[in-house]
Parts: sequence; structure tokens; C-alpha cells
Amino acid sequence: MVIVGAGQAGLSVATALRAGGYDGGLTLIGAEPHRPYERPALSKEVLAKEVLANEVLGEADAPPRVEPPSLADPAQWRALALDARLGCRVRGIDRGNRELRCDDGAVVPYGTLFLATGGRARRLPGLDGERVHYLRNLDDARRLRQALARARHLLVVGGGWIGLEVAATARRSGLAVTVLEAGSRLCERALPADAAAQLLDYHRAQGVVFHFNVTARPRADASGVYCEVGGQRVGADHLLVGIGLVPETELAADAGLAVDDGVLVDAVGRTDDRRIFAVGDVARFPSRFSGAVQRLESWTHARLQAEVAAAAALGGRAGYRDLPWFWSDQYDLNVQVVGAPTGEGVSRDYGDGRRTLFYLRDGALRGAVAFNAGRDIGFVRRWLNAGHTPHPAALADPARDLAALHRALRESGHVR
Ligand code: FAD
Repeated sequence: MVIVGAGQAGLSVATALRAGGYDGGLTLIGAEPHRPYERPALSKEVLAKEVLANEVLGEADAPPRVEPPSLADPAQWRALALDARLGCRVRGIDRGNRELRCDDGAVVPYGTLFLATGGRARRLPGLDGERVHYLRNLDDARRLRQALARARHLLVVGGGWIGLEVAATARRSGLAVTVLEAGSRLCERALPADAAAQLLDYHRAQGVVFHFNVTARPRADASGVYCEVGGQRVGADHLLVGIGLVPETELAADAGLAVDDGVLVDAVGRTDDRRIFAVGDVARFPSRFSGAVQRLESWTHARLQAEVAAAAALGGRAGYRDLPWFWSDQYDLNVQVVGAPTGEGVSRDYGDGRRTLFYLRDGALRGAVAFNAGRDIGFVRRWLNAGHTPHPAALADPARDLAALHRALRESGHVR
């Protein structure tokens, strides 16, 4: 079995295959030279204030740099018994001969193939140079870290998760931060308006400056970055562009697999070639939760969908029961989003900065957004899985313990 892409989904396939009893040959091919690591850390720990300070101090006095945690410790890595080919990019799939062609000239045969190629950062056309940054992989993060350590003003294009996480880190490190967003609010695809407004307030209170409804056309040269915003010129030392992800579908498309904003797969992650699966950010699958065919870009999804595909390759039939779940850390704020937070919001405010917004549509719980209230999300996940909606009054009342509410629902047989 061969896995292309050594990220969260790729490594999860490998782990699940071994856990499922597969002891045959297992090849993991990854374009990055690094062993699989936790990508979410790139916009968080890896760029943290203390780490940036170390960059300024210089090598001699600096404690070790912070790198993202590994997805497998050395013992786990050895136990997987992988033929790992890192720093190697697959250039083509020959489905007739069941072979992969790599950029180092190697030809790798496969019996079953998993595509876990994730995506790349969407670029702003015509913009490049040392002051322009994107953030998708460890090399991007190291480069951005060096830039931020010496910068005073960061311009961010894109008010989505990556832009906001970097804005928060930069702001905490003392940089002035300006965010330009094309839409009328933050995280338009992921957050309802009231939750987005709360996040915006939080950033503004930290001193981040926002401009909305701006189609940014920044320019960058050796001395800085510039952008016209409402007739005014905004200048900065560096620019981070966080405008979304383009799925890495070229391999699949060139091989004639069905592709449409993602590699199209069925409920177990199988493409229209039964020997080829696609998982993680790159795969577009029929969601049981939303009823739509969609891609999900999240850590949990990459892991869980990979496990289902690995089981299917070993003969399992269970389909993927997706439940979208995503988290983000900004300043000391942990934001978690579960399900499809649309519809009527019910606010549960603990009065100490913790708040959960539950969303109901046609009387049914559809999702939630929690601010420093991750514990609530655990209950919402179980209720969504069971198709159960607690009474809105109970959800809204911070004095009603959700654990007790959950226990009562369990005892009455409503949820497990
Ligand atoms: P990836 O992790 O992108 O892995 C794909 C790998 O395939 C890459 O290493 C790539 O180099 C390799 N590859 C591509 N093409 C080829 C080829 N032809 N040959 C060989 N190798 C190839 N999610 C959350 O839920 N919470 C968070 O807080 C969060 N924070 C994030 C912060 C950042 C900065 C980023 C970038 C993402 C974040 N995510 C977060 C999203 C999460 O990390 C991704 O959803 C997850 O990593 C997807 O895993 P994947 O394996 O599908 O893709």
C-alpha cells in the first residue's frame, strides 16, 4: 500500500492500517523533507512571542527554537515500519501499470493508493518577494517567524482563521497589525454573524485594525509593503496572505480521476478507481451531516476520514460519519466550532469571558461556537450525533450544568 502526502491524513492512514492488522509493505511519500508534524502549531506555538524573541536574540544566547510537535514519536515512527520517502514529490500516477513516478526518478508500484496531498495556500497574483508570506508548511512558518521577529507592522490580507491567528500572535509580540478583508465580516464561511462580531471585538480590544469590504491589491518591494485602502496608503514591513486553500488535485486530475474542487470520493473515501482512495483536505465527500458533497479542512476530519478509508482498504464497510469540528487559538481565546452553526442563536454567557452560542434551525440543534468553553462542545457533539436538542432555556442558563443535563438525557435514553 502506498500513501502520497505525509501530513495528518497520510500518517493517520498509515497508523490505522497497522492498527487494523496490515503488516505488508507500506510506503509513505511526502514532498516536505520533514517527518509528519502538527500543522495547526504553525500559526500558534511556532510563532509565539517567546519564540520570536529568541529569533531576535540570535543563535548564541537563544534557547532551542520551538518546532511543531511530531505526529509520531520515534518509537511510534519505528513501529509503523514505513518505507518513508520524504522530500520526494510524486509527479504522476500510471493507473494502467499501477505505478507512481516521483521527481527523483523513482518508480513506485502500488496495490492500493491513498492520496493525502492536502492543499496549498491560495496566492495573490503578481505578488512575490521576501516581504510576502503565505502559511501552509513548516518552511513557510520558519520564514514568517524570522520576518516577524524584526518587523514592526504586519499587514494581513484575509480575515479567516490563518490571518486571525497570525494577527493575534504578531499583536502579542508587539507588532502593529492591520487586517484587510474582502467580505463584510470575519470568517464568513465558518462563523455566524454574532460569533464573528464577538471575535472582531476581541481583536479590536487588542489593538488590531480592520478594514472590511476591501479587495486588496497590495504591492511589495525591498523596502516594504503598501496598499491603498479607501484612498489612504497603508504601509507595513511584511504581508501575510491568508485567503484560503487550493486542494492539491493535479495528480488525481492528470490520472483521469473525478475531480471538482477536490478529489471526489464516496462515503469510505474511495475514488472512481477502486484501488485509489483520497482523504483529508484534498477529498470531497458526501457528508452525512450536511447532506452536501463537500471538503472539510480540519485536523479532526483529516484523521477520522483517513481511519475510515484505511478500514475500507482492509475490507471494512463502515461509512464516514462526519461531524465538523474545528478549533482556533488566538491570544488567550480558544474558539471551537462544531456542526453547522446556522439558524437561531441561543447564548449561554458565563459572565467571565466564557460563552457558548448554540444554533437551532427548525427547532433542532445544528451546531455551536464556544469561546473559552470547549467543555460545552463535547456535549454538543454527543447531542448532534444522537440527533437530540435540549430545551433552549436550559442551554441559555449558565447555572444549569450541562453535564447534569447530559446525564438526564442519557438516563431517559435520549443520548448515549
Ligand atoms: P496536509 O497536512 O496539508 O498534508 C498534505 C501533505 O502532502 C503535505 O505535506 C504536502 O507537502 C504533501 N504533498 C502534496 N502533494 C504531494 C505530492 N505530489 N507528492 C508528495 N507529497 C505531496 N485545523 C484545525 O482543526 N484546527 C486548527 O487550529 C488548525 N490550524 C491550522 C493552522 C495552519 C497554519 C494550517 C496550515 C492549518 C491548520 N488547520 C487547523 C488545518 C489542518 O492542519 C488541516 O486540515 C490538516 O493538516 C489536513 O491534513 P492533510 O493530511 O489532509 O493535508
